[in-house]
Amino acid sequence: MSSNSKKVYIETYGCQMNVNDTEVIFAILANEGFIRTEDIAEADVIMANTCSIRDNAEQRIWGRIEQFNLQKNTRHDVLTGIVGCMAERLKEKLLDKGNVDFVAGPDAYRNLPRLIADAAPGHPQIDTELSREETYGDIKPVRIDKNGVSAFISIMRGCNNVCSYCVVPYTRGVERSRDPRTIIEEARNLFDRGYKEVTLLGQNVDSYHWKCDREEVSFASLLEQVAHISPDLRIRFSTSNPQDFSDEVLMVMAKYDNICKHIHFPVQSGSNRILEKMRRRYTREWYLERVSRIREIIPDCGITTDVIAGFCSETEEDHKDTLSLFDIVGFDTAFMFYYSERPGTISQRNYPDDVDIETKTRRLNEIIALQGKKSLESYRKDIGKVFRVLVEGPSKKDPADLCGRASNNKMCVFADNIHKAGDYVDVEVTGCTSATLLCRLLD
Ligand code: SF4
Repeated sequence: MSSNSKKVYIETYGCQMNVNDTEVIFAILANEGFIRTEDIAEADVIMANTCSIRDNAEQRIWGRIEQFNLQKNTRHDVLTGIVGCMAERLKEKLLDKGNVDFVAGPDAYRNLPRLIADAAPGHPQIDTELSREETYGDIKPVRIDKNGVSAFISIMRGCNNVCSYCVVPYTRGVERSRDPRTIIEEARNLFDRGYKEVTLLGQNVDSYHWKCDREEVSFASLLEQVAHISPDLRIRFSTSNPQDFSDEVLMVMAKYDNICKHIHFPVQSGSNRILEKMRRRYTREWYLERVSRIREIIPDCGITTDVIAGFCSETEEDHKDTLSLFDIVGFDTAFMFYYSERPGTISQRNYPDDVDIETKTRRLNEIIALQGKKSLESYRKDIGKVFRVLVEGPSKKDPADLCGRASNNKMCVFADNIHKAGDYVDVEVTGCTSATLLCRLLD
């Protein structure tokens, strides 16, 4: 299929990195004359950018593939494809079982125009080669966000940690850091185009490390360089890793008002025995020391986390350790799941998935219930405080109100018919729920 003004439709699933990857894909295809469409019924090329982090993420895609292929019933030259982590994990299986026309892994997006050009019914195309160099650093992503306020910038790809439950190292390959000059140029370009916030993305941003001749750039130094672009450009980053999280990063965060005071700090479990089995290279004590260090240097820093309930061999004692850690830390919010065994991972190959689903569900619900209380406590503590908020747009609940995040990443909602997306406003917190700060606009 030649590319001349062919329309491309992409559904994006999973993490923020996939959102940014979809923006990279649109840029690569636009360079070849493809046009983006949000209407599947008019698309010549239909694809999903997929996630493999849990089984239900993949199950959902099998359903989407059927829907995609229905388009072929009425328009026979439509091409369908799967890209991203599920493409990398399942490879040819998607061609055989899914009957899609092309499959591309996270490091093969430069090759997408050729895969699409060569693909035809009966001649499916695939590229799932992982790379040690690819960072798409020279590609200017086509932004898909609607508000033009906040944008993602991938600073690195892959991960070398190989936590025992995780598929990422197999679907995204080894860690490689992007040339800092291209990151700063992209951030500056976004600011010049009116964006007010960038989120620096990596599976493990703390291990960002760029070395070229005698020049070495750590994550702390990169953060500082981006902060220098403008005090009106806010910087966020995700995801941190407790084992590599340094005081250096904390000091840089404390030094610049425009670096947002929020850290997403996945703990996964509160039990040292389970952390070791997960190959998380820190202990409960190390994690708690890092949290108290964060609060020592940045007292009002927002802290959120990820947790897995019911990992292989987890006992009630281990579970209680997780609950007590959640009680001690008092996270603002958390992403909470029970263990979903992923094929090919270290835990799948070595440990029986021996915690039954009833126990997994009960333990997960206990964590969710506790976190609900801790979130409410955390949001209540902000009542009476004044925050500088970056307006993102109308509130979902009541479009007459505006919403935006405070530096600590908490969503603020307030009545306002003056300001617009991209404005900074000061608000006073007058009330809250366990997920939103109710505010009044200050003059
Ligand atoms: S740090 Fe662990 S959990 Fe996170 S992406 Fe890497 S291997 Fe997966």
